[in-house]
Amino acid sequence: MDKQTKHNQRMAKKKRIVDAGIAKAQEERGILILLKGNGKGKSSSAFGTMARAVGHGKRVAVLQFTKGKEDTGEYLMFKDHPLIDWHVMGYGFTWETQNFEQDKVAAEKAWEVAEKLLQDERYFMIVLDELTYSINYKYLDVNRVVAAVQGRPHDQTVIITGRGMPKELEAIADTVSEVKDVQHAFRKGVMAQAGIEY
Ligand code: ATP
Ligand code: MG
Repeated sequence: MDKQTKHNQRMAKKKRIVDAGIAKAQEERGILILLKGNGKGKSSSAFGTMARAVGHGKRVAVLQFTKGKEDTGEYLMFKDHPLIDWHVMGYGFTWETQNFEQDKVAAEKAWEVAEKLLQDERYFMIVLDELTYSINYKYLDVNRVVAAVQGRPHDQTVIITGRGMPKELEAIADTVSEVKDVQHAFRKGVMAQAGIEY
């Protein structure tokens, strides 16, 4: 068999498999996407997907759960868009935390905003950026998060980002992607630069 025939046969086989997969995937509904791992690319992937939704005229909301996010390029670019509601929660947990109880109250307040959005059918997509830290540091009960995500409208998609993903969220997710840290410019001595890191 010559090279071309062999290649054509391989491609035909591949096409049959892909077509069968497409025929099987018939459902249309909102999904839960988790973006986890230690490499760079989780939040930027979430905002890229969000931009895709907005491009199709869909309404979206973003909640950023970490502190000091008001000067990011994504916020400055998207905050005034009529289809985007952008909430910067920005309470001071992580290693700067001074007061667990205070931060817990702040995280719960932020989550109350999320719960409202997760009941609102007008939103095609909700991005919960860096939510995982609030759960991993025990500011938020994971079961409360799971319940709200599971109770959302049928057609609403949710994207959650954060390095360490709770297993309870993975258990109910539709798409889970892990960004692996192979190399990062920071370790080569390059500082966090506007327009690249934030
Ligand atoms: P991005 O927002 O660029 O998509 P991310 O959401 O995957 O990154 P986070 O874990 O949220 O990354 O970290 C936030 C910041 O830390 C970003 O500026 C990111 O570039 C940077 N960062 C991500 N991974 C690493 C790493 N492995 N080493 C150093 N800095 C990192
Ligand atoms: Mg991020």
